Amino acid sequence: MLRQYELVERVKEYAPEADEALLNRAYVYTVQKHGSQKRASGDPYFSHPVEVAGLMTELKLDQQTIITALLHDTVEDTLATIDDVERNFGKDVARLVDGVTKLSKIETLTENERAAENLRKFFLAMSEDLRVLLVKLADRLHNMRTLHFIKSPDKRQRIARETMDIYAPLAERVGMYEYMREMQLLAFEQLEPEAYATITGRLAQIRSQDGGQVDALAFAIKQALAEAGLNVEVSGREKHPYSIWKKMAERHVSFEQITDIMAFRVICESVNDCYRALGILHTTWQMIPGRFKDYISTPKSNGYRSLHTALIYENSMRMEVQLRTRDMHNTNEFGLAAHWAYKQGGARPDGQVGWLRDLIEIVDASHDAEELLEHTKLAIYQDRIFAFTPKGALFQLPKGATPVDFAFAVHTDLGAQAVGAKINGRHMPLRTVLNNGDVVEIIKNENAAPQLSWLGFVVTGKARAAIRRAVRAKERAEIVVIGRKLFEEISERLPSKIGKKARMAALDRLGMEREDDLMVAIGTAKLSDREVMEALVPGSTTELSEPDAWPKQERAISIKGLTPGMAFQLADCCHPVPGDRIVGLRRPGKGVEVHAIDCLDLADGVDADWLDLSWGQHSHGAIARLRVVLYHRPGTLAEMATIFARNHANVVNLVLAEHDDPFHTYDVDLDVQDLVHVARIVSALRASDSVANAERI
Ligand code: MN
Repeated sequence: MLRQYELVERVKEYAPEADEALLNRAYVYTVQKHGSQKRASGDPYFSHPVEVAGLMTELKLDQQTIITALLHDTVEDTLATIDDVERNFGKDVARLVDGVTKLSKIETLTENERAAENLRKFFLAMSEDLRVLLVKLADRLHNMRTLHFIKSPDKRQRIARETMDIYAPLAERVGMYEYMREMQLLAFEQLEPEAYATITGRLAQIRSQDGGQVDALAFAIKQALAEAGLNVEVSGREKHPYSIWKKMAERHVSFEQITDIMAFRVICESVNDCYRALGILHTTWQMIPGRFKDYISTPKSNGYRSLHTALIYENSMRMEVQLRTRDMHNTNEFGLAAHWAYKQGGARPDGQVGWLRDLIEIVDASHDAEELLEHTKLAIYQDRIFAFTPKGALFQLPKGATPVDFAFAVHTDLGAQAVGAKINGRHMPLRTVLNNGDVVEIIKNENAAPQLSWLGFVVTGKARAAIRRAVRAKERAEIVVIGRKLFEEISERLPSKIGKKARMAALDRLGMEREDDLMVAIGTAKLSDREVMEALVPGSTTELSEPDAWPKQERAISIKGLTPGMAFQLADCCHPVPGDRIVGLRRPGKGVEVHAIDCLDLADGVDADWLDLSWGQHSHGAIARLRVVLYHRPGTLAEMATIFARNHANVVNLVLAEHDDPFHTYDVDLDVQDLVHVARIVSALRASDSVANAERI
């Protein structure tokens, strides 16, 4: 950490008339205010503002900025107030500290809030005095340098994401490329650790193989220019892993296909020399058409000036070369900061240099947020898309997201009530994959509910969780109805009539709070009939010999409405079970087919006689066919089998009807007693985490 006298000396070096006493006071103030607060690294908290102030001295910023850097967290994180700061350090510093504090507030907003209107406010806050932004960027840079000390991976992730989304583009926007590059590199390492490790590993490999090719090429460039009488400085470097990765992502190419991993910078003595050097390079090496850019005659909007070109060496490898003067170089790397750097004689910029005016204009234009995000969209957002509501609010979603994901991102209720979507004004199915920049309008119906099938295409956790919750709630309501029906049936078997009092006592005995819980337990067979009876009337089941008194798996079907002795068979298209409403089809010379009343095959029965049938008393035993959708993961099939066994239902046949990841759909034929038995099995299945859906077919 910088010591007090070191910091003051650094400032005095470039600003001899700086107020030493005031700087000392600011240093002591931050040490005192932060007191025993600690950083995640275990260092005293005040080391952070001191380091930020140190970064500001590297840019030779004025005394007020240095003091602001020292105090930047005191109002936010300590008992210090803006008034207190103003009393001690004056109005200007107080205003700057207030500005930095306001900028910090943006970090507590959610991504989507931040993306739109709030970014505008953010720009406005900093546009009042751009030194606020310089301190904020240095603050963020230091926080990124110490990010690895933070234990929570979520927090590290959030900070890195924010840096990539907001601060690095902002640094670029104001021309502080050094800051931008370091922020991107640190954020990249955090956000894409695997990609980072791969690329740095490959770079190290290349370095060990080519034996210092960067230096050799830098020397060759310098020599070629020296022969023409030009005195230049040449520095070469590998491109940093993030820009390589960005290129891979933007062009959809592999590392091997990236041929330009080296970049050289040539610092010339004059503008004239820059153009002469360019000409010599273009005749010494083959230039790559389309890559030459003249930012000297036409500077970038942030003030950046340089010549860019790309050359071919060793037949296929490419190098990038930038040529500029020393002055341009200093301005280029620190952009905005270079304009604000302390200058002898005290001439302050009036804040109306060209690129700065642009920035203010961008602030006033309505598309600023999107435009800013545009920079980072391509790279780190390879896996993300942006979609808009019809009113223009921006939502960031993972790639592959659908209108359902979008609806849930906007609001849980909107997701739950979605019935359709218009994408860019056209009606599209809810499972359509959204593209970057789509305008999505969700069509809703208040009575609609999330569909289980949506789980097959949604990609966001939020949508997934909300759909599961809604489907479960609906299923639970159905189970409660079945449970209640079973409960009434069980109650009738008891000697005494069951009133409210007996029910409450039973809940108590079972350790349950609400009647619905009991109905669910009955409906899903978590409680046996016997247990329910015991809870209602203790001792009532002692005379029953067989536990649970399940009827044996045997058929005892009688049908009312047939002429005695007439042969019949239960149709295997609809598998009616006792309890279903049934109808008989009689054709000459054949037995009677018994169908469920809603069987689709009845449409073919126009030529037959229709018999109005019903089940005889004590009919039981039939085959029911279920369609069960299981999540495709280990153990779900076994879980389904366990549910059948627990409910005393034999599997007669099992067919994998469909597999459409993440689901496997089985058609199961089961030996069951009657309709109530089937209903109970279906609800037990639906209550299981292994089962996405179960229904009788
Ligand atoms: Mn800070």
